[in-house]
Amino acid sequence: MIFLFGSGRLCAWPLMLAWLALASPLPAEASVDAPVKTSVQLNWKHQFEFAAFYAAVAQGYYREAGLDVTIKEGGPGIDAVREVAAGHADFGVATSSLVVARSRGLPVVALAALMQHSPVALLARRGDGINSVLDLADRPVAVDPHDRDEIEAYLLASGIPRQHIRLVDQTDPTLAPLDEGRIAAKVIYISNEPFLIRGKEHEYLMLTPKSAGIDLFGNILFTMNRTLNAHPAMVKAFREATLKGLVYSLDHPGQVADLILQQYDTQHKSRAHLLFEAEHIRELTRPDIVEPGYMSPGRWRHVVDVYASQGTMPRNFDLTGFLYDPTPPRTPEWVAWSIAGLLLGLAASVAILLKVRGLNRKLKREIADRTQAEETIRTLAYFDPLTRLPNRLLLRDRLQQALALSRRSGLYGALLFIDLDNFKLLNDSHGHDTGDLMLQEVARRLQSCIREGDSVARLGGDEFVVLIEELDAAQEEAANRAEIATEKIIDRLGRTYSLGEVDYHSTASIGITLFPDGDITVDDMLKRADLAMYQAKSAGRNTLRFFDPAMQAAIEARTMMEADMRRAVTRGEFLFHYQPQVDNHGRMTGVEALARWPHPERGMVPPASFIPVAEETGLIMAIGEQLLRQACEQLRRWADDPATAHLSISMNISARQFHDPDFVTVVLANLTAAGADPARLTLEITESLLLENIDETIAKMEALKARGIRFSIDDFGTGYSSLAYLKRLPLDELKIDRSFVADIETDENDAAICATFISLARLLDLRVVAEGVETDAQRYFLGIVHKCDAMQGYLLGKPVPSEQILQNRNAAPD
Ligand code: C2E
Ligand code: CA
Ligand code: CA
Repeated sequence: MIFLFGSGRLCAWPLMLAWLALASPLPAEASVDAPVKTSVQLNWKHQFEFAAFYAAVAQGYYREAGLDVTIKEGGPGIDAVREVAAGHADFGVATSSLVVARSRGLPVVALAALMQHSPVALLARRGDGINSVLDLADRPVAVDPHDRDEIEAYLLASGIPRQHIRLVDQTDPTLAPLDEGRIAAKVIYISNEPFLIRGKEHEYLMLTPKSAGIDLFGNILFTMNRTLNAHPAMVKAFREATLKGLVYSLDHPGQVADLILQQYDTQHKSRAHLLFEAEHIRELTRPDIVEPGYMSPGRWRHVVDVYASQGTMPRNFDLTGFLYDPTPPRTPEWVAWSIAGLLLGLAASVAILLKVRGLNRKLKREIADRTQAEETIRTLAYFDPLTRLPNRLLLRDRLQQALALSRRSGLYGALLFIDLDNFKLLNDSHGHDTGDLMLQEVARRLQSCIREGDSVARLGGDEFVVLIEELDAAQEEAANRAEIATEKIIDRLGRTYSLGEVDYHSTASIGITLFPDGDITVDDMLKRADLAMYQAKSAGRNTLRFFDPAMQAAIEARTMMEADMRRAVTRGEFLFHYQPQVDNHGRMTGVEALARWPHPERGMVPPASFIPVAEETGLIMAIGEQLLRQACEQLRRWADDPATAHLSISMNISARQFHDPDFVTVVLANLTAAGADPARLTLEITESLLLENIDETIAKMEALKARGIRFSIDDFGTGYSSLAYLKRLPLDELKIDRSFVADIETDENDAAICATFISLARLLDLRVVAEGVETDAQRYFLGIVHKCDAMQGYLLGKPVPSEQILQNRNAAPD
């Protein structure tokens, strides 16, 4: 009988009373003649956790109850509550958050607790500065949607202020993100993951919500109100058979593990793993203490309190109707007897209740006071009281972590040391209160500049630090990005401050150091960034400096290059060289236009040196348009000469250019202005361009194709194209990348790949061009054997200025 259990008893009575008063008439008995079809939706993949259902099927408990049950497997993206609410299953398995759904108006009914205690916990890695749950403040903790609330409640109850809790969605359920330091902790089931870390438990730290006084139910069997109303007998029979299965599975773990291996082995867990799970689920179910399935209303109130403390649902939420009553009154005498018993007990209970309530209230106040005090202590220890940013202590900790992480991941990070220029002046002239306002505003601006996952800290005075992680694997690129981020900060900090009555202008000097660098320590990092900051100050303030002189030089070179390029754009210095494309009969059918930059000191600069900078800075728009005009004018000139009138031009288009909203207009306007035939212009695009917004891409291509312009997919085979994508795109041509052509003679795979690409092109009705043809053997293989439509390469002609294109052809072998 349910009233026998623990402290739930007192709380249960008034509730039961309410139920009895509202008790509905006797439900109709189940008809057990023909099996009734029904189904249950699990909330995760098949594993021992759901042994009750498998055992109830295998032992014939459902059949005996007149039921034919389908068990529906769960998994990522399957929300059992939603499935049942949508009518895709009659029953489901949910977590305690089912009550939240009910409070939001979803008429769900909890039938039984399949686990008395929740298996949800957190796993962190020791080291990395994590020794207790408090160390998870401001660090990423990976959770699943169905356990998010529980973990949040746990962290809050542990004393971490809400604004310092960082929950991220778990995308990789394995231990890898934890082991690689990408997250500080992850949600686990204590019945599962601990099995995976056996033997190295000491490396991990397990944190359970119970330690913070949070004790939710584990799996809850539930149904909808409508199902219960329409088929009360069926619900009752299903519940009872399932609980029989639960008892059986806990008594015969080995047998049920084998059953899972034979019939439900979708996760390929070992038998040992399943038995490990069984043992822990037994612990969480405690059939020796609690009648299987029993739900103490008192514990449900605790669940409500936990969610209410997060603001997820109202604290005084009425559980009536949410908790299924497995023993509805059978006879009026029973009701009368119960009420009489209850009333007798009630008098005594009320007295006790009042006393307990008073005690509880006092206790709660004390706990609240203590939590508050602990939070204050923590905040004082780790956070700067003025700006609420992490202080030096917490920063050092994070630096340590960032350093370890970047060593593992091979990705550079940057440490920015920021010092406000002439801050003392403000303090002296307008007083410290104004100075404080300024520092708070600086903190806000810095926080608004950084990405999620990066940190800002205040070291004291007017010194701040920004930590940017995971920039790039290449040092130079990492430096570029750090520079871009720093420029943004300089810009943001340089805007006017409204400080009470005062409008104030200020600037900042920033020193940057990249890490990791050999076995550099956190102290060295801070020193380097500090040193670089002084260099920035002595360079005239309001600027940035890198610690590493070589890096500084590289950055300066790039900045100079950008300035040079801007000048070249205004002077229209970029031009095309043309490389012939030749058909199977040795005839030139067209050319590819390749950009060149004749630099006064550096000579002819190849596109690989300046296109990436142009793309990054956006200069590609202006350069691309200048080149487009040249190509159109060239087409026009060739059209006037019968010897060249048949030539077409293929031009490379960057993703950034293509995605510009004006791209179509610009191309058409240039063709019209030059009086060129659009049918002689081919635009070469790469696969990477297709990754963004495919529908928009297709629409633009269609618009240009309608005017006769052709499209070629460049560097084919080096990107991510799926056949499905290719089929959707209105392409005319496919260019086999020269990396495949280069080794045709020596590498059978490459030869086979080229042959496949050619067949693929035929299948999709595309012209096929091979690039990088350098030898006769390549030409023979591609042109004669596989009938490539055209070839391009040094063998047939190098890229040359337009006036040489015809001579060049004469020089090329036929
Ligand atoms: P791409 O589109 O793959 O161009 C072919 C590249 O291969 C050209 O290098 C060309 O000179 C080179 N090449 C041609 N035949 C041979 C050969 O037989 N052997 C070898 N080893 N190489 C050969 P280039 O001119 O340095 O261009 C490099 C890349 O720069 C181009 O690769 C293209 O992606 C980009 N690019 C060039 N011009 C432009 C442009 O106007 N706009 C944009 N967005 N990108 C351009
Ligand atoms: Ca190309
Ligand atoms: Ca190419």
